[in-house]
Amino acid sequence: MIILSLAAALSAGSIGLDDPAPRASPWLGEVSKDRLIADVRALEGFGTRHLLSGNADPTRGIDAAGEWIKRSLDAAARANPPLETRIESFEVPPGVRVPGGATVRNVVAVVPGTMKEAARRAYYVVGHYDSRNADVLDATGPAPGANDDASGTAVVMELARIIALRPLESTVVFLCTSGEEQGLLGAAAHAQNIASTAPYAVMGVFNNDIVGDPSPAPRALDAASWPGGRVPSNEAMQAAQGPDPRRVVRVFSEGVPRRAGAADLATLRSLAAESDSPSRQLARFIAFVAAREGLAVAPALVFRQDRFLRGGDHAAFNDAGFPAVRFTTLHEEYSRQHVGVERRQDGEYGDVSRFIDAVYLAEVARVNLAALVHAANAPRPPLKVRIITASLDAATQLAWSPSPEPDVAGYEVVWRETTDWQWRHALDVGDVASARLPLNKDNVFIGVRAYDRDGYRSPVAFAAAAKE
Ligand SMILES: [Zn+2]
Repeated sequence: MIILSLAAALSAGSIGLDDPAPRASPWLGEVSKDRLIADVRALEGFGTRHLLSGNADPTRGIDAAGEWIKRSLDAAARANPPLETRIESFEVPPGVRVPGGATVRNVVAVVPGTMKEAARRAYYVVGHYDSRNADVLDATGPAPGANDDASGTAVVMELARIIALRPLESTVVFLCTSGEEQGLLGAAAHAQNIASTAPYAVMGVFNNDIVGDPSPAPRALDAASWPGGRVPSNEAMQAAQGPDPRRVVRVFSEGVPRRAGAADLATLRSLAAESDSPSRQLARFIAFVAAREGLAVAPALVFRQDRFLRGGDHAAFNDAGFPAVRFTTLHEEYSRQHVGVERRQDGEYGDVSRFIDAVYLAEVARVNLAALVHAANAPRPPLKVRIITASLDAATQLAWSPSPEPDVAGYEVVWRETTDWQWRHALDVGDVASARLPLNKDNVFIGVRAYDRDGYRSPVAFAAAAKE
């Protein structure tokens, strides 16, 4: 057990941004904007990738696109044998968006983890390769889907090539789903299958959907957009406009897990853990890593599962009980989303590759890759992290179950104000499974993370409470 003075605890207030920890630069330097935009254009070139567009034409439609993704990854796998590829298929019954039912084919590539103890943990990078236009049942009309979601698919393919070159300690799964536009069909089938067969523990899912077109905001600074021309303060105007969209990518995460049952919700309420789900810890971890790595595009965390009237494959993973977040550009240009390709009076419509910014897309890929390298090389977060509340006590007594990897070097207790979005303070408590800190547990949220000999930190495990 470790007992520290309050002064020592507070002086250790850095969150670890300045210590000599590993960098992901060997991986980040491999990201190629040229390959990314070439993949987006190749996917656009299939004309439509609507789920029901069939397999009659080897140059057009969903099956041709899926085969092309698989062949591209196979080419990377020949150069880098750790990459294993396959197409998995699921039959889905008739529904509103699939009147006759359908066969949904996901393209899956896996780089097994290099450390035995870590290889049964998996991180996912996901994008959907199907597309749609204005009519969700139009299986033949043009649906280039460059931003939605050839951009995300290109990120998945690029990261698969790079991780195959430099595998990580944990397993990484690269998943290009189909049937997303018809109701998250491929992701749901995959996630449910993994939940029931449990070939590995899914530690985190990075879903990339609409990540290539950093369009500016729609006219928030225009006085005429506000009711009666009543404009708010300059500060509020700036907040409405947001930062430069080329410098940020939104990361959506669920707060209260969709899967939480009545007992889970009661526990969440008693801990005030509405904003501390595993998905939200993953989002905070992505922001932490991006700051460490000094990336050109910063994650802008949004504390909700997704946008209004929109969904994404991460929700299917959340439904299966897995931590999952969504990457999306700061603003969306609706004239380039779920529409036909046409010229209208007010401009060009269509989700075409001309609007994809390859430099931005490469930076989004680097945000994913940096977080992936850190998470998959770090130890598993400690389990059963709990504040011992057996008696009234102003201090904080913590206990946890250690992480299983042989290279674990120790643990950090982290904390933040209850109103703060990010873990703000960290204290290295060494290679122990309990610690006593002179922190008033009533006034802060507390978590624990593991670190290894290289300095990689795990995502944070939020501290529950136990009367032991
Ligand atoms: Zn999409």
